[in-house]
Amino acid sequence: MSLLKLRISVLIIVHVLILAHVLFWGSDTIGSLDFQEFFHAFVKHGIINAGGILVLLAFFTTLIFGRFFCGWACHFGALQELCWWLLNKLGVKPKTVDSKLVTILPIVILLNFYVIPNLLYAIDHPWGLSLSINSPEIWAFLPGWIIGTLTFFIDGFLIVYFLGRKGFCRFLCPWGAFLKLPNSLAMFKVRKTGNCTECHECTTHCPVGIDVSYEINTYQKVTSTNCTSCLMCTAGCPENALSYRFENPLKEDIKISQFIKQKQFSHQHIRELFTSIRGKDITLLILTLLAGYAIDGLYGMGHFMAFGIAIISSYFIIKKQSYNFRWLKPTLNSLIVFCFLWHGAIKFSISQGLTQFDSNNYISSIAHLERAVYLYPKPIGRFHLLLGEMYLAQGDKISSLKHAKIAKNINPNHEGPIQLFEHIGSKP
Ligand code: SF4
Ligand code: SF4
Repeated sequence: MSLLKLRISVLIIVHVLILAHVLFWGSDTIGSLDFQEFFHAFVKHGIINAGGILVLLAFFTTLIFGRFFCGWACHFGALQELCWWLLNKLGVKPKTVDSKLVTILPIVILLNFYVIPNLLYAIDHPWGLSLSINSPEIWAFLPGWIIGTLTFFIDGFLIVYFLGRKGFCRFLCPWGAFLKLPNSLAMFKVRKTGNCTECHECTTHCPVGIDVSYEINTYQKVTSTNCTSCLMCTAGCPENALSYRFENPLKEDIKISQFIKQKQFSHQHIRELFTSIRGKDITLLILTLLAGYAIDGLYGMGHFMAFGIAIISSYFIIKKQSYNFRWLKPTLNSLIVFCFLWHGAIKFSISQGLTQFDSNNYISSIAHLERAVYLYPKPIGRFHLLLGEMYLAQGDKISSLKHAKIAKNINPNHEGPIQLFEHIGSKP
């Protein structure tokens, strides 16, 4: 069996196991196997659950075998590879984007959303170890079907079209970022064990855009922490010059320069394989972060979907493209910027409105929440309830009644609007 067939078989088995987990073992036996459990349950509260055990297993096996988990077991990675294969079948061959953000951005997302907030919480609250394998239930941290499907479409398909193979794994995945450290220490690595003719086939075959031929000829091994041990490079080498080999970590030759790698992607042949945006890395980073924060959490969007949209849109803005109509690109860019500014204003208004409400500063809170409900296309009953309560506290019964009616229309069966009507002294 070829290596590719073996990997596809393993990925199919993993997906069958995921399905069995959902259908048979469910929450009664094994709870959510989401990576974020490690941060939300273990780091935050000291709870060891199924997701936390999976992460610890991935971390320690990565110390030995590298990030094989990403290459051989991740459903998101498999989805992107399927998309890549489908696009190729359709004759579409997106170039993989070469950027330093593949190192920086996933680490920023990991620290900002998962490590720092949960660590800060743990420092301020009592923390004790406990075991809870069957909780939370599978869907606890997953979005609903609509947002879930859109997330798969954006991070599995669109991102591959715009940023190339494994665009999500390279530019956004915080779990990949978490495994970078153990991966840099991994004992098994792809190593140069034969004569290399510098044909660059290994670089062409690498799904995560590593300049393999540069790395193995400079450091005698693949040093990139993005390597997923998929072994496509070893299988693709016509000279059999590469092997996946063990090395005693105490004898491993580690050079500082392997973490900087200024000269990679510089060979003419390699340059043609990639679209380099290194000169625009800082601009892309700033735009992606601003856009991501602007929409994160709105419409029920999770971080993955929000930052997927953010990086695709930001890349579209900075990418040079010629259209038949010269006005089209600036118009599209302006529309994208306007859309993010709009949603940024909504996010700011909601955040300020809720903060001021908690501080009993109702006049300021009303101004912010009125702006939020005016700008936000999605009606949110809770904001209208808060506005109704605050207007009532200010003695403005008419405005309070108006928001009570809107809240009731949004959630006809919810207790909140009924209670508000009672406080106002009016019938629903
Ligand atoms: S360097 Fe080789 S093993 Fe690592 S991700 Fe690329 S193709 Fe796979
Ligand atoms: S595919 Fe093999 S021979 Fe070609 S550059 Fe890579 S290691 Fe060298």
